[in-house]
Amino acid sequence: MRVPIIAGNWKMNKTVAESVEFVKKIKDQLPPANQLETALAGPTLSLVSMREAAAGSPLKIAAENCYYKNEGAYTGETSPYALYQAGIHHVILGHSERRKYFHETDEIVNKKIKAALVDHLCPIVCCDDTMGRRTAGKKVHWVVNQILSDAKGLSSDEIRHVTIAYEPSWAIGTGQSADPDEAEEGCYLIRQTIAYMYGKEVADDVRVLYGGSVTTSNINALMASRDIDGVLVGGASLDPETFLRLVNH
Ligand code: 13P
Repeated sequence: MRVPIIAGNWKMNKTVAESVEFVKKIKDQLPPANQLETALAGPTLSLVSMREAAAGSPLKIAAENCYYKNEGAYTGETSPYALYQAGIHHVILGHSERRKYFHETDEIVNKKIKAALVDHLCPIVCCDDTMGRRTAGKKVHWVVNQILSDAKGLSSDEIRHVTIAYEPSWAIGTGQSADPDEAEEGCYLIRQTIAYMYGKEVADDVRVLYGGSVTTSNINALMASRDIDGVLVGGASLDPETFLRLVNH
């Protein structure tokens, strides 16, 4: 059975003190992890303090990125090994903002996924779908190719530890969420691609999320879709009361 996930992605927001205050506000009001997994991805500087503040609660703390090497002369990068040793067990990889502003390619994302898995991190891998390609009817091609490239060389056991988020960039931060049918179509496409690569049994175990302008108004309709196992929330995850309403939708 796939346990649903509600994950917040704070992006480059919040100081360490604000991050800790947020975690303390919500940590005692979360459902048990076997019913619903809750995770918060915060800025690297906040992660250890967030993890300490979340102690004893089901909240998982996630990094927003990491490098594909564990150590060495890579100024400014974050080691997946060091994250795991610090008690951070999830990492978002391949977000469309990383692809757009920091030129991450599928090849880099693929290396990062492999490195994260070696270090026991659970990757939440983002799959983009741009408006232009969507309107030009090239969505299928775009989504399928991205999954084929990002997951290239992963074993069935490894892909089971990966969560994939369908995040069309036209829906991110725009207030224009994909409607439930569009979101379901993207998540279904991702699951079908995993089924093509690994078989239906494996695909049925992989969690697929939707992300892009998720709010307290649209979460129920999105979560009701068959292939949507949860949501990755940006803007609406920045306020503790709103995040709790999303979790307890
Ligand atoms: P918004 O929820 O602000 O659209 O951001 C979505 C996102 O990028 C989550 O990773």
